[in-house]
Amino acid sequence: MEKTKGDANLARAVDLLIQNVVPERKEEWNKLKQQYEPQFLFDADNPGRFFMGKIIGDNVVIFSARTLDVIWAFGFTAWRMLEANAAALFQQVPPYTLGTFVKLPDQANMDEAVADIIGNVDYIRCAPYIQSFVWPDGVPRVDEFLARVDDPTKRTKEEQAAYDLTCMGMAFILLHEMQHLILEKDRKKPANPHEEEYACDRFALEYLMKHIDLTSADPRVLSKRAMGIVSAMFVLLALDIPAVWASPGPEHPSAIGRVQAVIRELDIPDYDLAWILLGSLLVGLLRHHKSILPDLFASTPKGLCHQLIERVGTVSK
Ligand SMILES: [Zn+2]
Repeated sequence: MEKTKGDANLARAVDLLIQNVVPERKEEWNKLKQQYEPQFLFDADNPGRFFMGKIIGDNVVIFSARTLDVIWAFGFTAWRMLEANAAALFQQVPPYTLGTFVKLPDQANMDEAVADIIGNVDYIRCAPYIQSFVWPDGVPRVDEFLARVDDPTKRTKEEQAAYDLTCMGMAFILLHEMQHLILEKDRKKPANPHEEEYACDRFALEYLMKHIDLTSADPRVLSKRAMGIVSAMFVLLALDIPAVWASPGPEHPSAIGRVQAVIRELDIPDYDLAWILLGSLLVGLLRHHKSILPDLFASTPKGLCHQLIERVGTVSK
């Protein structure tokens, strides 16, 4: 059977992304490419559905441009939320309560920013063309951003941070798909498709987190990658309606189940910025869906995130 040929520009973009985000595993990535010969394609821009990526046959990875745009928009918003709130959050002393987030100086603006995107998600899903998506304030369009500041030295510090965060989230998704392809080609797919999803999330997480020390001793690198991972996981929730957050499908575990499994594996300090980011995003999500926020108490931001996720799980029941 003739093999599908991928999009050469997309393959180059994928390559650049992985090499920039995970420089310490460049050789490994090149070997994986040689061995598994992945071909990357964009889905035709069809309204009506979201998917992160999917595998056709044993070598084609298809991405949805529409979904990637949403991830991009969330990445930029997530960075703004963190910037606005991190200092205030770090001044808090335990116990951490929901008030920690809700009473932040800029929380009202941040709620609005999150609501702006979440509120737009349905519209983006159904819009006849992705170009008609009204971008939230402060979020540049992908092509406009790259054309304006293709040279990283010309980006502001904030733009670069938001860009890095988004790239890390995208790398997580890409590596997840790569593991599907590896399992397919090696004929090692677990019989239970849910197990396969968890295995692919684990692969992506380990790929991004396990060998950072080879290129950097800076703890901020670990933190930034964790932030990319939590923002990618958050998008899983934000793309769906609360009614299905806790419902597994035939192919996929519930979004809540996946988020919980991933954050259990995150080997980062209890006070890491990634927890602050995830906490802010989850509070924004709950507030957007008008969920009554219970008074939660935890001794660390990590503890609070675990409780918030559980809370999100009950909203959907
Ligand atoms: Zn998958």
